[in-house]
Amino acid sequence: MPETPEQSATGRFDTVLIANRGEIALRIQRACRELGLKTVAICSEADRQAPYGKTADRFLCIGPSTAAKSYLNQDAILLAARLAGAGAIHPGYGFLSENAAFADAVEKAGLIFIGPTTSSIATMGDKISAKRAMMAAGVPCVPGPDTALPDDPATIERTALEIGYPVIIKAAGGGGGRGMRVVPKADLLHEATALTREEARKAFGSPSLYMEKFLEHPRHIEIQVICDDHGNAVWLGHRDCSMQRRHQKVVEEAPAPGIAPNIIQPVGLACVEACLQIGYRGVGTFEFLYEDGAFYFIEMNTRLQVEHPVTEMTSGVDIVQAQIKAAQGHVLDLTQSDVTCKGHSFECRINAEDPESFLPSAGVVTHLALPAGPGIRVDTHIHAGYKVSPYYDSLIAKLIVHAPTRAEAMTRMREALAGTEVEGISTNIPFLRALFEDGAFAHGETDIHYLEQWLKLRRAA
Ligand code: ADP
Repeated sequence: MPETPEQSATGRFDTVLIANRGEIALRIQRACRELGLKTVAICSEADRQAPYGKTADRFLCIGPSTAAKSYLNQDAILLAARLAGAGAIHPGYGFLSENAAFADAVEKAGLIFIGPTTSSIATMGDKISAKRAMMAAGVPCVPGPDTALPDDPATIERTALEIGYPVIIKAAGGGGGRGMRVVPKADLLHEATALTREEARKAFGSPSLYMEKFLEHPRHIEIQVICDDHGNAVWLGHRDCSMQRRHQKVVEEAPAPGIAPNIIQPVGLACVEACLQIGYRGVGTFEFLYEDGAFYFIEMNTRLQVEHPVTEMTSGVDIVQAQIKAAQGHVLDLTQSDVTCKGHSFECRINAEDPESFLPSAGVVTHLALPAGPGIRVDTHIHAGYKVSPYYDSLIAKLIVHAPTRAEAMTRMREALAGTEVEGISTNIPFLRALFEDGAFAHGETDIHYLEQWLKLRRAA
């Protein structure tokens, strides 16, 4: 029987090109090496001195410093893969990781894209089709239609009334916390719709919008899944990523505190069911808002996430290795009953930015001291003498701890932060240290607005 394109997307390879940079490029390289795979690192001109270039089997500069001409340059990446004899491409997170056209181009070039099928990426990349697929699979969604908002003003008004104010207008193709607008009451509806539509057209190339209930004090809870190409899928527990600034996660933890197993269990199982229904392969994350004891799906990330380590610490599963093995066509080597999450884990994102203004801080790291000890993990590519470039995301390290209880994990993170010294550039470490002294955070179950409110109070003090 001829293979369908979806079935042909897994297979053998012995060399992986890592189409990313920074800490995740190193994390993936290590996972590949542990699996006996050769690695090809790529870089832009700004990253020529990247330490993971020296440890890769091949290191190729693919273009100028601006991401559009290097890490987002599909042709250059495919050419590098061909030159280096790579059989697969790992996209990491960000850049081209959720670009269905890139996944398609990788497969058309005869290579394996380490991720889900092109059609899964496309379905989940459009928030309306994602919502529709999730509703069909019985995953709880935010109240609101699973169809695009029409142009007709009367229908828009009726939809908002049916949902009940406040509502939120969102771009179907939105991402990165952009392309959404809260509408508190009816007289602001049409202006908000018009503005969001224009923004969506400009930023995401599609004016398609949808409307849903705006939840006023939710937490951000997500579920990690891993699936193979043979109809097996498991969920690896949950994370709480409510500590956000401008919709950007700052601290993540696993498990989400204060959520009883009988509440989360059906949601995890619904996510697994959804994966089986859409023929999902590899790793993915279902993101939910959680309010008053109920879960509401908001989107699925069809890639490895920055915060995957907290789940690795609690579940003991190497998520990157599992992802690569799924792309090789291996049968998942664990069943749901093998998944037992133990203890508590926190991750702090250490960013090169001013701890007060949050403006990015580029320059040379003149001194670096990293913490060590039981239950401490640091995922970073930087070293003393490393030059932090102004061209990319400001994430320079992830500090991860694991301990038997949440309270012990908090203590361990305080200790780890105290032992972290970065000089020569500004970082958010002072801000993270202060946050880990905060009483409400220590208590747990704070909502997605908490961090912004805490910052406002600190500034006012
Ligand atoms: P993006 O793809 O841009 O990250 P999401 O749909 O994941 O967009 O939403 C990003 C953030 O916006 C959420 O974490 C939450 O803070 C807020 N948000 C999104 N939808 C809603 C909603 N219906 N009610 C309240 N807040 C929301």
